[in-house]
Amino acid sequence: MKIGFIGLGNMGGPMAANLAKAGHEVTGFDLAAPMPEGVSKADSAAGAATGAAVVITMLPNGEILKKVAAEIIPAMDKGACHADCSTVDVDSARAAADMAMEAGLLAIDAPVSGGVGGAAGGTLTFMAGGSQEAFDTVKPLFDIMGQKAVHCGPSGNGQAAKICNNMILGATMIVTCEAFALADKLGLDRQAMFDVVSTSSGSSWSMNTYCPAPGVGPQSPSDNGYKPGFASDLMLKDLRLAMQAAESADADTPIGQAAMELYAQFVEAEDGKGTDFSAMLPRFEARGRG
Ligand code: NAD
Repeated sequence: MKIGFIGLGNMGGPMAANLAKAGHEVTGFDLAAPMPEGVSKADSAAGAATGAAVVITMLPNGEILKKVAAEIIPAMDKGACHADCSTVDVDSARAAADMAMEAGLLAIDAPVSGGVGGAAGGTLTFMAGGSQEAFDTVKPLFDIMGQKAVHCGPSGNGQAAKICNNMILGATMIVTCEAFALADKLGLDRQAMFDVVSTSSGSSWSMNTYCPAPGVGPQSPSDNGYKPGFASDLMLKDLRLAMQAAESADADTPIGQAAMELYAQFVEAEDGKGTDFSAMLPRFEARGRG
């Protein structure tokens, strides 16, 4: 298949390389990043989109997505599909999809979970929003870049699934970290705490799979000096998107709001920038109630 790929950064680079390795003809464009192996270079976003059956974008935010969509849509053949895999706000995802559909194209928003390791290893999870036809068109490519793709409904629903998931993740990571810090102060051994909680009703992915306490549970960024992993800055981005969506949909999300404020404080006013999002544990450990 002829594929255009725009946004070849930490995530897009290895995703495009995997498509090329699988035998697809991939033409890429990025303002700064180098071309991954097997990907031919276009001089513009429109150049990468011309003649492609599917154009994939992997960009930093919704404003850039809308700008790039306006550049590529006029260059795409009728019936071709724009698949946006960036994490952006739901409203921008829907606006980009509307632009594409009005021009007679297919469109799908398909943000990913799995991080840079998942992108390199081809083990991402895709959460997709768009028509069945758009999903069926891009599914073979999702299968190369990832291990699972879930069709979540119409345009924007992929982004909705992503931010709801990450709101749960951010909140459970915070409460897992504060519980470990409380347990420390109560004299409860961390391994004992893990053994109980990971098999009890307080269990979660944050505790069982990505335990924020070093030396406890499976290997995780806490065992590597809290080097990301999934950076606190990216968690803050996703929590802000969740709160933006909650405001736009008039949804009451007090715990999501508190999680967003804590990550904002951690990243912007403390020393959380560039650390894994589980580094909330040493943060809580070092504090009292005051
Ligand atoms: P990145 O900053 O490494 O890559 C983004 C790329 O887009 C850059 O190379 C940049 O030069 C390019 N770009 C920006 N504007 C452009 C334009 N107008 N035209 C062409 N290229 C342009 O970011 P990333 O880590 O690859 O993340 C990409 C997206 O994936 C983000 O939305 C992010 O939230 C999401 N995401 C990232 C991770 C992760 O762990 N890094 C995990 C899941 C989802």
